[in-house]
Amino acid sequence: MPISVTDLAKKLNIAPEAVQLYAMELDYEIEDDNLVSDEIAAEIRKLEEGDEISQVEHEIEEELDREIVEKQQERTAGHKKSVRKKKKEDTPPAEKLEEEVKVIKTDDGTIILPETMSVKTLARLITKPIPIVLVKLKQNGIIANLKEEIDYETAAIIAQELNVKVKKEATELSGEDLFRADISKLLEEEEVEHLKKRPPIISIMGHVDHGKTSILDYIRKTKIAEKEAGGITQSIGAYQVKIDKDLITFLDTPGHEAFTLMRARGARATDIAVLVVAATEGLKPQSLEAINHAREADIPIIVAINKMDLDGANPDLVKGQLAEKELNPTDWGGDIHCIPVSAKTGEGIEQLLDTIRLMAEEKKLKANPDRPAIATVIESSVQSGAGVTATVLINTGTLHQGDPFVIYDQYGKIRSMTDFSGSAVKNAPPSAPVQITGITNLPQVGDLLQIMKSEKIARKKAEEVQSIEHKDELRKRKQFSLATLKTKLAEGKLSQCKIIVKASSKGSQEAVVNEIEKIKTDEHMVKVIHAGVGEISESDIMLAKAGEAFIIGFEVAASSRIQKLADKEGVTIMTFEVIYHITEKINDILLGKMDEEETEIILGEFKIKAVFASNKKMAVIGGDVIKGKMRKQSRFRQFRMVENEETKEKEEQMIGEGKIQSVQMGQKEVNEANEGTECGLKIEHTELLFEKGDRLELFVSKK
Ligand code: GDP
Repeated sequence: MPISVTDLAKKLNIAPEAVQLYAMELDYEIEDDNLVSDEIAAEIRKLEEGDEISQVEHEIEEELDREIVEKQQERTAGHKKSVRKKKKEDTPPAEKLEEEVKVIKTDDGTIILPETMSVKTLARLITKPIPIVLVKLKQNGIIANLKEEIDYETAAIIAQELNVKVKKEATELSGEDLFRADISKLLEEEEVEHLKKRPPIISIMGHVDHGKTSILDYIRKTKIAEKEAGGITQSIGAYQVKIDKDLITFLDTPGHEAFTLMRARGARATDIAVLVVAATEGLKPQSLEAINHAREADIPIIVAINKMDLDGANPDLVKGQLAEKELNPTDWGGDIHCIPVSAKTGEGIEQLLDTIRLMAEEKKLKANPDRPAIATVIESSVQSGAGVTATVLINTGTLHQGDPFVIYDQYGKIRSMTDFSGSAVKNAPPSAPVQITGITNLPQVGDLLQIMKSEKIARKKAEEVQSIEHKDELRKRKQFSLATLKTKLAEGKLSQCKIIVKASSKGSQEAVVNEIEKIKTDEHMVKVIHAGVGEISESDIMLAKAGEAFIIGFEVAASSRIQKLADKEGVTIMTFEVIYHITEKINDILLGKMDEEETEIILGEFKIKAVFASNKKMAVIGGDVIKGKMRKQSRFRQFRMVENEETKEKEEQMIGEGKIQSVQMGQKEVNEANEGTECGLKIEHTELLFEKGDRLELFVSKK
């Protein structure tokens, strides 16, 4: 016999709304006649038994009312006059009420929970009635309402008590991490029990003509099964070889420029560096550069002493030179493996590969193959037919065809994946290189790719990166400028002052380095991370950026192209003609002595009321002089109210800097406009975007 909601409520001594809620949670719809079948009544009674629902009832009543109204609105007219059980295939209420709540299960039925969630979302995810969840929380000493956010740890306790297996959702890169191409925090947070062994990623570095390409070619030709090798029509920038059961990934682009470029962008794409040195020639400037780059990145080095088949081969000469650089060969009692090889005859290549495997084993390289993939772009190109393609190296997780992704500030879906042998693949595990399509814009080398739950969420992430980029443009450019360096040293955030020296001759290089290394203060160390002869190069800038160093040129210049790059990357270059001036300058920096810094005088403030024109050449804006005065040819900083991502509160942030070209009042150009007046400002060549409500602070500099 069906029973009315009111009667059942009375019987169970609970509010009628609670009966409705229970019914709803049990996926039953109570129709207009307000009747509940025996079957449901029994289930509701079961839920209620032992429950302390009445005590938390008042907390859910409000929410309940809203949901019931919503549900009723959704119903169409003319439905049956009885209570019917909804079929499971029907859209579950979870999706109707909360679009974002999607139950994700692993193969063994474990339900994936996010880092934090509302009580209501938790109930939906573990498919348990809200009152039960509330009561369980209460039993654990947590009085919560439906909307209260709880963390995964709490949710896991509740789930466990309700016999539901749950697992924490893999952490994802923040917009800031994607912006900085910084995967380190995420890797640190990976849960150890999910980590499995992954192949090592190897970069081959060394002086030009010492045989890097030949070694890579030899390994590729001899170690890749013919079937696979035959498919390699064009290199995708990396390949993998299998030795016994171990895979090794080789980055196919020799040279440290690519390596440093990636590192300058924060990417982690190399585990071990193989330094190729010709046994006939010994260490050369680029060998030293490679050593410095690897050292700075804290990446172990294996030395391949190449061209052993030639008559003049002298491996001991190379070892002696290495020892001088504090790279002591293992057979001399040190820890640097030096393997004599020949890319021509293949001598020693097996041993080189074995050494790589051994070192990889020692490094215990691991990743979690069971999470959404994160990968690093190592190459990108536009190809006719395929559009934009990129080769990525999987850092962690497994990449699947069809996955929605974000790469830096763009999003999409992986349309196709090709491995290094040219075969289409559906999945790519950690350390594997794959070429992907489905990208719209050409990504940069070092950009990170992250798989997201849906394209919608991927878009949101991409937008987050875009807005960070916009805000950060100025800051980024000035990141490692001398002033920042000074501030960091003064604040004790840097204990080491790193320097790159470029000089006109070997003799002067040594003299400069000698003098610099003599400088020491109680608090700071000065360290020359790289020194060389010749003009300041792109590679020097990248190393400086990656290592937060500055560049000192002695009797050498930086071309305008290089100076521009340095400005863009926020690297300071200082050139000198007298050694004494160098040490004087460094001493000043260490002592925190600033130059005769310009002082600023704030002229006035302006509030934007309208933007009349805005392009790259100029912008015209109108508004009020709210303080002081506006003056032509003065500089300004632009401020905007933006939401703080952590506190969610609005706060003012500086978003740009520029120059006022002219001030207009009415139709007339004026020199100045005073407080309380309305005026127009013409702003010089700018990439700034102005918005109504922005505040400008005008200033002039004075020595
Ligand atoms: P990379 O600039 O370091 O990539 O050097 P390459 O691989 O292009 O090699 C430079 C030159 O040295 C080429 O002419 C190679 O044929 C030669 N070469 C490389 N390795 C060996 C080797 O082991 N033995 C001999 N005899 N020649 C080699």
